[in-house]
Amino acid sequence: MDVYGVIGHPVGHSLSPPLHEAGFAALDLDARYVTFQPATDAAVAAVESAATLGIAGLNVTVPFKQDVLGAVEPTALAERIGAVNTIDFATDPPTGDNTDAAGVKRALAHHDVPLEGRAVVVGAGGAGRASAVALADAGMAVDVANRTVERAQTVAGELTAAGWTAAGHGLEAIPGLLAEADVLVNATTVGMEEDASPVPAGALHADLAVLDAVYRPLETRLLRDASAVGAVTIDGGWMLLFQGVAAFERWTGRDAPVDAMNRALRERL
Ligand code: NAP
Repeated sequence: MDVYGVIGHPVGHSLSPPLHEAGFAALDLDARYVTFQPATDAAVAAVESAATLGIAGLNVTVPFKQDVLGAVEPTALAERIGAVNTIDFATDPPTGDNTDAAGVKRALAHHDVPLEGRAVVVGAGGAGRASAVALADAGMAVDVANRTVERAQTVAGELTAAGWTAAGHGLEAIPGLLAEADVLVNATTVGMEEDASPVPAGALHADLAVLDAVYRPLETRLLRDASAVGAVTIDGGWMLLFQGVAAFERWTGRDAPVDAMNRALRERL
């Protein structure tokens, strides 16, 4: 039996076990997916122990996504994002990938959104970096807007240094940026705790596709506002689904049973 899991702290809330177990069941794979909660300073030891025990694959969530870089060989994408969310133990050292970027791209592609033109990414934390790299890598010009403008400028500077088109801004630039934009991603935590949006409703328009990384709740104020003006709306459950789908496919070498995995996720969101 192949054993997979997720390390995080806390990790009890993770939706990855039902997501992946639904995939294993649909393909009749002899595999299990469990949660691990190492001490917050034990990320590298946890990965090394997992390798020793013959664990097949790990997802990595808060607060370990940067820390595990010391225990893996990162893919070019993970290195560029500066964070790992998926470890594949088929190699030695294990490979550290970042499937949050694939999650963004595939969530948009699943909704027939062309990855061309201009994208605005609001937020410059982990999800913001993954989104910005994903969309720049897909060929979009990316504007990053963040409450702390220096963080947006740092992310944009790294994208520019990689040869992509990007700029960093404060949140006040969002209305001007959106007028020219095709895709908007909210990668802040705004909308989770309260019924609030990081984007003024009046700046949204019908030619936008809006992906909200927030998945608790699924229907955020931003998505309600976007829907009201006729924009394409994509909730955070899709990004969560497709980051898992990309990890599943890397680990198993099989096409993931997307519908079964999506059903398992939606039952719990
Ligand atoms: P993070 O690294 O802590 O970054 C948080 C971001 O939110 C920062 O850009 C921060 O701005 C901004 N922010 C926080 N409070 C704000 C406020 N009141 N007004 C404006 N901006 C504010 O978090 P993360 O890991 O990137 O996660 C961000 C969101 O994405 C969370 O809701 C998370 O659940 C979601 N997420 C979803 C998926 C998925 O698969 N759907 C995957 C990863 C993350 P400052 O830099 O100014 O602090």
